[in-house]
Amino acid sequence: MKTRIFTPGPTPLPEKVRLSQAKQIIHHRTKEFSSIFEDVCQSLKYVFQTKNDVLTFAASGTGAMEAVVANLFSPQDEVLVVRGGKFGERWENIAEAFGLKVTGIDIEWGRAPDPLQIREKLHSSKTIRAVLTQLVETSTGVRYDIESIGKVVSETSAVLVVDAISGLGAEPLLTDEWGVDVVVAGSQKGFMLPPGLCFVSLSEKARKLMDDATCPRYYWDFKKAQSALVKGQTAFTPAVSLICALRESLALIKEEGLDAVLERHRVFALAVRRAVSSLGLEIFAHPSSNAVTSILVPAGVEEKNLRKKLQENFGVMIAGGQGKLSGKIVRIAHLGWMDKLDIVGVIFALEMTLAHLGYDVEPATGVKVVQEVLMGKVAM
Ligand code: PMP
Repeated sequence: MKTRIFTPGPTPLPEKVRLSQAKQIIHHRTKEFSSIFEDVCQSLKYVFQTKNDVLTFAASGTGAMEAVVANLFSPQDEVLVVRGGKFGERWENIAEAFGLKVTGIDIEWGRAPDPLQIREKLHSSKTIRAVLTQLVETSTGVRYDIESIGKVVSETSAVLVVDAISGLGAEPLLTDEWGVDVVVAGSQKGFMLPPGLCFVSLSEKARKLMDDATCPRYYWDFKKAQSALVKGQTAFTPAVSLICALRESLALIKEEGLDAVLERHRVFALAVRRAVSSLGLEIFAHPSSNAVTSILVPAGVEEKNLRKKLQENFGVMIAGGQGKLSGKIVRIAHLGWMDKLDIVGVIFALEMTLAHLGYDVEPATGVKVVQEVLMGKVAM
């Protein structure tokens, strides 16, 4: 049976990416590697929408989150964390592990923070050095309004740190224009790569924090990474094959064009939302992201069973809920290397599986809606 992965990471791999990894390894202290790495560093700026350098490390996305805390802050520094899901909590856990003082903004899971609330907190506590948040809170499927949050944070001396691990390449993120100081991303999402690379972009304002920051770091030292980068190198042995694969995936993104990539994600997300609603199911996230759609599991259907049957009968893998959402929602990602048939396919499989589990489904209800959206028959 074919397997089809609709999880918010890892995401499917294009053939060019897969094949690039079958090649013989090259040494990283060579002109050949440097030229690939320089090419990749330039293209990363395009995807991150920044003029600043983007640092690359060998780790999953969480590594880059930890690296940001280690490089920018000192123990006892106060940071403001948006706690709207599991990944907001991750910022809090990392900050606390480094002895930072965390002030939280608690958001109902499934909702986005109000930028004015962030503004209030920043104005009431002048010691807050940073706002740590997400572009897409993958655990709930919500998109946060980073443009508005950027405006609010730019008025202050605090830096805005955005975990765009699942959002980059799916949602617009105008890093420089919106005043986002730090963007963190990972390879196994919109980059259409296997897990194992993470990325960090830093504004001038963020770089200044590094001079006084005393949290311990060695491998993760951004200054070391930056001085190697200007020589077309990495400070330590890089994940050579993943970087070669990254060159292929960045070429695919550039060939399609970032705007077109984002538009594809927008339309596919809309198709999934509309289709799911037409089946009488409820979307959990507001506003719902273009990377992943969270759906409340309807009464009478067991979440584990739904996912199990999708996998057994269609080779379709979707995600369940995390933390307190476990058993309550399922998450369908439409992230990365997805095409129209994938979207029709996942909705078809969902309808068939719901029907199999006794949920009342009129055949092709959702599939019809997907087709209407893709044909432009629905207000976009
Ligand atoms: N933040 C967000 C928003 C994510 O979606 C994820 C991965 N699902 C992470 C952080 C953690 O990344 P990783 O699993 O690559 O360490």
